[in-house]
Amino acid sequence: MDYQEIIEEVYHELLQMPVKGKLADYIPELASVDPNQFGVCLVDKNGEEFQCGDSLQPFSIQSISKVHTLVLAYSQVGVDLWKRVNVEPSGNPFNNLAQLEYENGIPRNPFINSGALVTTDTVMSLYPNAKEEIKQFISNVSGEESIVVNENVKRSELACASRNYAVAHMLKSYGNLQREVDDLMEVYTDHCAIEMNCYQLAKSFLYLANHGHNIYTDTQILDRGLTKRINALMLTCGFYDEAGEFAFRVGLAGKSGVGGGVVAVLPGEFSIAVYSPPLNRKGNPRKALYFLEMLTTKLGISLF
Ligand code: GLU
Repeated sequence: MDYQEIIEEVYHELLQMPVKGKLADYIPELASVDPNQFGVCLVDKNGEEFQCGDSLQPFSIQSISKVHTLVLAYSQVGVDLWKRVNVEPSGNPFNNLAQLEYENGIPRNPFINSGALVTTDTVMSLYPNAKEEIKQFISNVSGEESIVVNENVKRSELACASRNYAVAHMLKSYGNLQREVDDLMEVYTDHCAIEMNCYQLAKSFLYLANHGHNIYTDTQILDRGLTKRINALMLTCGFYDEAGEFAFRVGLAGKSGVGGGVVAVLPGEFSIAVYSPPLNRKGNPRKALYFLEMLTTKLGISLF
């Protein structure tokens, strides 16, 4: 199917939309990005790509990286991972501390910060050079040669990460962390500060639309069963405490990040990445959500 025309149609309709929303200024470096940037890239199951706007503009992938660390951890550790992190929507903001306390140090899911700290900790136990391993993994699944970290964004987040440090210490106090907090925070902020553009990002999630098969290397990253579980987690937990709203409006499995990116998959069909930095009150990229809602509505296809 030729998606180019419909992508351009939705894109141009949304270009008129006033730029509302707030940049993720709790990470100071992210407060200085141009709020008018807007890009899209859809890659179909065969790897054909359809792009529009600022689709080649690199941005901070932030929480989207949590999917990659989850896949790395889960593909090695298997079901034992679920002893340390749950698979339920949290209904709370991504950096919530109270829920972790009253649920005895077991994070609700791998996409809130506490859960991602646990999967990052798992990856660190598996690989001596976890930072490189994560980048290598993303490079492998996206067919892109090199994946880079924005050191300014990383430093900026580390300097203001009191709450994530608190979450990590809480996990440690419950015995749900193997590494030292400082080492963990170094690796966590490193993968959050990876920069990619929509084209690279859509490619890096294509295996999740292809039942675990990576067309760029012709290898199976996950079997069909594990792929189903990752997609189910993205559907139920991928948008902070707005996952229900995303399923309701868009009907795809996806993950957002406070850097302004959203990536989503329709299994058997395509992977798509949309970038627009201003965030809504729940911390999701406002215009990107509208884009995906309009696209699935016009196409008449979704998970449902
Ligand atoms: N690095 C960010 C944090 O921990 C990720 C947040 C996000 O994109 O949801 O606050």
